[in-house]
Amino acid sequence: MKQASHSLKDTAIQLEEFPSEIRPYLIPAYEGDVVYECIECGSTYALDQFLYTCPRCKSLLRLRNRDFNSLKKIPGTLWRKIFDYRKLLRIESLKGIFLFKEILFPSIPLEDVIYLGEGHTALVRANPELSERVGIEFLVKNDGFNPSASFKDRGMASAISFINYSIRTRGLHEVLGICASTGDTSAAAALYLSYLDKQVVKSVVLLPRGKVTPQQLSQPLGSGATVIEIPGVFDDCMKVVEELAENYQVCLLNSKNPIRIMGQKSYAYEVAQQLDYDTRNVVIVIPIGNAGNVTAVMEGFIDLYDLSIIPELPFILGVQSTHANPVVQWRATGTYQPMKVRPSVAQAAMIGDPVSFPKVSKLVGQYFKERFLALSVEEQEIIEGMLEANRYGHVVCTQGGESIAGLRKARVQGLVKPGQTVVVDSTSHQLKFSNFQQMYFENRYPAEYEITPQEKFINKPIVLDASAETIARFLHLKKKQSR
Ligand SMILES: *Cc1c(COP(=O)(O)O)cnc(C)c1O
Ligand SMILES: [Zn+2]
Repeated sequence: MKQASHSLKDTAIQLEEFPSEIRPYLIPAYEGDVVYECIECGSTYALDQFLYTCPRCKSLLRLRNRDFNSLKKIPGTLWRKIFDYRKLLRIESLKGIFLFKEILFPSIPLEDVIYLGEGHTALVRANPELSERVGIEFLVKNDGFNPSASFKDRGMASAISFINYSIRTRGLHEVLGICASTGDTSAAAALYLSYLDKQVVKSVVLLPRGKVTPQQLSQPLGSGATVIEIPGVFDDCMKVVEELAENYQVCLLNSKNPIRIMGQKSYAYEVAQQLDYDTRNVVIVIPIGNAGNVTAVMEGFIDLYDLSIIPELPFILGVQSTHANPVVQWRATGTYQPMKVRPSVAQAAMIGDPVSFPKVSKLVGQYFKERFLALSVEEQEIIEGMLEANRYGHVVCTQGGESIAGLRKARVQGLVKPGQTVVVDSTSHQLKFSNFQQMYFENRYPAEYEITPQEKFINKPIVLDASAETIARFLHLKKKQSR
């Protein structure tokens, strides 16, 4: 399937008006030499198949551009200009995450890119009073502004573009996209798959029954996916789809699929661009669930650093709930131990055995070392992190609340300091998690959440008669002087 793509002549600015040094690179033609590479045994495999684990040793795969070094011929300063000028083009396939095609996933031709409006989400300065309460100034990157209202759209845009490319180049007649989900992966997968040719592509999502919000459940249903609910938590769903992906002809769309990670690197590229590529003393605060996102963000910044597009790698502060914190425990003790999760309002990150942990562990050891911090926060702090931020003009989800709670704690512990540029990842939109807000307002949390609502955060509708006089009396309104 091809999306209508505009040619440069539709652009208000003509090619010859761009600086001559930019012109040859403005529309990316570079395709690199990208292969799957096993993170343990180093075996490589061609992209002419859907692979999720190494056929030899069963370890995770990543994607590697074996020609990456040739990108270094272009100086970092020029790359910055290329990406900035490219934003002026009106070419659909370059409007989203493929703005950064050469470093994101060069082997997908622009004609196969599926763009549904993802990426380039707002970076909003936190309200000053909120900053004061949290103890430090910060910025919120609103990934809830993506089409299915979470960052998962970034990875899905690369995965579905790859499927689209594979259908065309391999002549596939049947593709069954499948994923396990804490809610947002299935919303994104169902959305993007539904855009492709229905004669060829079918969409199936597996959800843990009762463990996704009503809004998240409505999304894949609305997109026409087959929605299968099974008992248990996300980790149980994941085991089932892993087995399906191992033994049947399906296309796995969880972040175990390294193509997802490629798209999610765009978060790092955008943050760098939005900060004018000055990453000195930057802290990125990220909620961690299956650890795909934190992997992608790290890999994205490494790309930029390797090409001298940014001067420094940022600090990464990973945040987890005490009810699901295997990565924090690993950071504190040095040993990784999968855990049984307890209910969490940061439900999208409620994962006891993160699939991408081996990648995080390697990236930290090789690149981030002291630059990777991790801490856990209580459920009460998470929900109030969300409620408080949203009372100051923000629209963060519970995972965004988790990030803010983590930032507050890191500030108290001296892990972040004033003067650092802090970017908080609000991974989805407030509206996806309004049921948790409602449970708070109505004091309906089951005991295992360990949440006791405080009066100051509660808000409820007031029922009055349809009478201006009654409402004016209730609001203690002063009468206008009669003229
Ligand atoms: C998936 C998700 C997370 C966790 O991201 P991982 O890549 O699984 O670590 C956090 N917040 C939201 C809103 C999500 O959908
Ligand atoms: Zn291997």
